[in-house]
Amino acid sequence: MNDSAKSVSLGNVAILGVGLIGGSLAAGLKKAGCVDRVWGFGRSQANLDKAIDLGLVDYASTALETVVKDADVIVIASPVGAIDGLLAQLKWHAPARAVISDVGSTKTSVIQSARSALGEQFPYFVPAHPIAGSEKSGPSAAHPELFVDHWTVLTPVDETDPEALKQVADMWTTVGARLKTMHPEAHDRSLGMISHLPHVTAYALMAQLARQDGLDDLLDMAAGGFLDITRIASSDPVMWRDIFLDNEREVLSLIEGQKKILSDLQSLISAKDSAGLEAWFIKAKRLRDRLAGGKATP
Ligand code: NAP
Repeated sequence: MNDSAKSVSLGNVAILGVGLIGGSLAAGLKKAGCVDRVWGFGRSQANLDKAIDLGLVDYASTALETVVKDADVIVIASPVGAIDGLLAQLKWHAPARAVISDVGSTKTSVIQSARSALGEQFPYFVPAHPIAGSEKSGPSAAHPELFVDHWTVLTPVDETDPEALKQVADMWTTVGARLKTMHPEAHDRSLGMISHLPHVTAYALMAQLARQDGLDDLLDMAAGGFLDITRIASSDPVMWRDIFLDNEREVLSLIEGQKKILSDLQSLISAKDSAGLEAWFIKAKRLRDRLAGGKATP
């Protein structure tokens, strides 16, 4: 955390959805000492009790109005499909001066929802997406260092209030994130490629595995490569259902692109085009080596 982050003061923060991302943000903010109180909201008291026991939040309630009553900053960290409903409630319960943000993995439709739900408060809504996480979910998976040296993408629009934007930017740098600003549609296109399509592949591989005879033996033998490439199929199913439906256009277009690529590969194999296959794999290896080598952090 840098020196300027140390002087950030966010007041009372309300986290709506204290799971992996919301819980990690809460924990990171508390650790940085830049908040007065952190409140948590969710549907299940058991989850909220766990979040309090783990020290992620100071107080928690299943009543939204109680959680946001004195909030200076409100962060929606629920699955994307629930954001619309939460924004509609915030219209009535959020203090007029509060900055509202989110961590949703898609941005275009979340911004549309915020624009129609929040009305005059819309300029104080700052859309954000931390590019950090894992296939784990819930408060037990939360970690204060989760965002350190990872990008958080901010996707402000013309109406976004500069002070609100600065406050959300400061919040993320305080927990160690690096910031990138993108147009919401460019964000959804990029994340479709580097995050949503890999999940399509992992789910498709698991579906194909499930249809094989001798499944128990296959599960027993599957090792390194198969485990690496399918790890993300263990992610929360509701979260990924919502992301695919929300970023439908990009995901469908990427699946079409992938079908074409598989068909090209099929043609090379059936034509026994060994030079073509080798050239393909050399190119893929070069790009993958460049990707792995260019990462500042694991
Ligand atoms: P998570 O661990 O499952 O946490 C989600 C939290 O939201 C849970 O604590 C859940 O608690 C609460 N919740 C679920 N439905 C709700 C509803 N209808 N109203 C209010 N709260 C609700 O999921 P996560 O991984 O933290 O993901 C949260 C958000 O971050 C998603 O929008 C996701 O797209 C985004 N994101 C995820 C990752 C990642 O790698 N996981 C990375 C970046 C961004 P209750 O069940 O008790 O309500």
